[in-house]
Amino acid sequence: MAHTSSRRVVALGLLALLLLTGSAAEPQSVAAQPAPPEAQPLSLDDLGALDALLEEDTEQAVSELDSGAIVDVTALGLILALAVFSFVRKSDRLKVVSLVLSVAYLGFVKASLVSVVDVFGALRWSLPAFQDGQAYYLLVVFTLVSAVLWGRFYCGRICAFGALTQLLDRVVPARFRVEPPAWLERRLVYLKYVVLGVAVLYFLASGDTLVYRYIEPFWMFTLNGNAIMWTLLAILLTATVFVPNLYCRYLCSVGAGLGLLSNLTLFRIKRWDACRTCKLCEKTCEWGAIDGPRILVSECVRCDDCERLYADQDRCPHWLIQKRAAARAAKL
Ligand code: SF4
Ligand code: SF4
Ligand code: SF4
Repeated sequence: MAHTSSRRVVALGLLALLLLTGSAAEPQSVAAQPAPPEAQPLSLDDLGALDALLEEDTEQAVSELDSGAIVDVTALGLILALAVFSFVRKSDRLKVVSLVLSVAYLGFVKASLVSVVDVFGALRWSLPAFQDGQAYYLLVVFTLVSAVLWGRFYCGRICAFGALTQLLDRVVPARFRVEPPAWLERRLVYLKYVVLGVAVLYFLASGDTLVYRYIEPFWMFTLNGNAIMWTLLAILLTATVFVPNLYCRYLCSVGAGLGLLSNLTLFRIKRWDACRTCKLCEKTCEWGAIDGPRILVSECVRCDDCERLYADQDRCPHWLIQKRAAARAAKL
């Protein structure tokens, strides 16, 4: 209300100033022209009407702001809820729907992705005002909380770029794929931590946040880049056709940060005894996140491909061994 009153005072002040300066601003030749009608003093009714108009304008602006924010928060909330639901149900179809929505809405409509710029902002404690960024805070809080619960869940379902490369991977024929050898993979995954470290040091030394344009491709959803950025993006997407999720696995600084946080993950993927020798899940994982019986939590994005195998009683050796043992026991 204090805000509204001050706006009224300013508006009335401006109106008074206009009335006062209006006659002084008349050109010198005005005497040669027909005399203008004499200015009538404002009545109390006029002031009341002006006051009501100002109040109406202010309320309309506030309600437009609120309804826009409510739509943003609701749409984001529904996308996050669907992502969690598809994950809990281990439904591949729902996962695809969730990925498509992430690309379409969070990518091309809102260009709303967690970026290294958010890391810079957190380091300088320069975050957007809450009333101007409820959807932003919802996304960031969800990303952090889900990382503690499940690991890089944001990478596996929500991030529009990660969703785009996962969908790309579904349409690219398997014969085009190149898997780096294990020794190289083990070293390449550290590159993203180097990128994160160098970006943070550069930011702390220079205060320049624009470095993000050359180390992450998220700007592509705004369709607003220069020739160098588009060229780098074309090279990256072409390479991603051959090496699935290349950027996410080796280069993404946000993925690196979430990977570090994932070491705190509470609900980890379970493993059977049979996983010590079985390589089925390791071959299925397109993120290089399984090494023998171990799940590498900092690389795993909870895509749930291996978890569906884990529960598949017709394919997972753990269940097949159990079934065979039960059949043998039944014969005795
Ligand atoms: S690794 Fe980076 S680009 Fe890939 S899904 Fe995660 S945040 Fe997005
Ligand atoms: S298929 Fe079953 S036994 Fe094999 S690695 Fe996966 S969960 Fe383990
Ligand atoms: S296949 Fe399993 S280990 Fe690999 S990223 Fe998906 S959930 Fe993680």
